[in-house]
Amino acid sequence: MQALNYKPVHTSEKEAALRKQVRLFLAEYGPFDTPNLIDSWSVCDPKFSRALAGKGWLGMTWPTEYGGGNKSYLERYVVIEELLAAGAPVGAHWVADRQSGPLLLRFGTEEQRLEFLPKIVHGECFFAIGMSEPNSGSDLSSIKTRAERVEGGWLVNGSKIWTSWAHVCQQMITLVRTSPPSDNRHAGLSQFIVDLNAKGITLRPIVNLAGEQHFNEIFFDDAFVPDDRVVGELGEGWSQVMAELAFERSGPERFLSSYQLLEAGIKTLREANKTQQATIVIGQFVARLMVLRQMSLSVANQLQAGKLPVNEASVVKDLGTSFEQELAEALRLILDREPRSTAKTGVERLLSDAILKAPSFSLRGGTREILRGVIARGLGLR
Ligand SMILES: Cc1cc2nc3c(=O)[nH]c(=O)nc-3n(C[C@H](O)[C@H](O)[C@H](O)COP(=O)(O)OP(=O)(O)OC[C@H]3O[C@@H](n4cnc5c(N)ncnc54)[C@H](O)[C@@H]3O)c2cc1C
Repeated sequence: MQALNYKPVHTSEKEAALRKQVRLFLAEYGPFDTPNLIDSWSVCDPKFSRALAGKGWLGMTWPTEYGGGNKSYLERYVVIEELLAAGAPVGAHWVADRQSGPLLLRFGTEEQRLEFLPKIVHGECFFAIGMSEPNSGSDLSSIKTRAERVEGGWLVNGSKIWTSWAHVCQQMITLVRTSPPSDNRHAGLSQFIVDLNAKGITLRPIVNLAGEQHFNEIFFDDAFVPDDRVVGELGEGWSQVMAELAFERSGPERFLSSYQLLEAGIKTLREANKTQQATIVIGQFVARLMVLRQMSLSVANQLQAGKLPVNEASVVKDLGTSFEQELAEALRLILDREPRSTAKTGVERLLSDAILKAPSFSLRGGTREILRGVIARGLGLR
């Protein structure tokens, strides 16, 4: 059986100094509105994204020739960890910074890198993820959106669903079928950069359980995509998507979505007559948080070394999303407060938001069951 690798990581003075800078910036810019604090990486504020760009905190690890900061993954980790812990509205640039940019760096053409990476770094271009379809979520290779060859490019027909923030993004990395299904389920898929404002593309909003327009349905009706928007090799879409997953699944956003509730819960308990049981519960959650943080830091370090630790990342996401989901329920039981969706501020509002949003935490980016299948395969058990 293969072992999972989580070598401990120690951050240095350099990261400590950067952390201080981020905290100073947040102290000046924040505090952020209570209704946006839970799952703040789903809150889009292009102005805030551009303020981060001004500090050099978008595309931090990318080479300078594309506008990047040439910083380490650990430095990026410190910045995003502080932003998430503060509940900062980082949703607009999140996907572009986390995975679309790294995807283009790895598989894109030089023209694509030169065109898109500087715009992402300046907070001028946001990317959505176009993978899921109405009948293809977990079974992603069964997608039906197809691209047919025409002169100079491709005509795309079909639809995508659950596309987060597509209504504020300009571009979407879209998985399409470029040749008919065959015995090899993973063959014949390709990734395109699709301009979301192009002719033949229609967005329809979907309102989530919390009453927000988080995601969309997207319809392609003979939408033309030029040849120079194909990412990587035609027919290699599946392996390229798999490479994206290590970036998508291991970051601190996979366990910090409810962090502001933990802070508010501890503050409320300090001011109240807390029970011994409440203290034990908080202690358990804080211990889990510290372990998750070390595991996730270790994955960041492996990404820095050019590895793609998909299994280690999947474990972080599975344990992390369980943590952030269970936190909401545990605090509901130990805090003597009613969750209240109409409250403008306070722990009641945070509780309500966390309870409404938590079910989605273990669905997005690959469901719990799918991740456990990936982990089992990685351990040689399937
Ligand atoms: C908040 C949120 C944001 C999202 N954003 C995006 C986005 O930006 N872009 C995008 O492309 N998609 C996005 N998604 C979609 C997400 O990737 C899918 O919801 C997810 O992959 C599951 O697919 P599904 O909803 O079709 O469920 P299904 O695949 O139908 O699964 C239903 C249930 O069956 C289980 N199941 C399915 N297959 C198996 C199996 N083989 N073994 C065991 N159990 C199984 C699943 O675990 C799940 O519990 C988002 C989803 C959410 C909730």
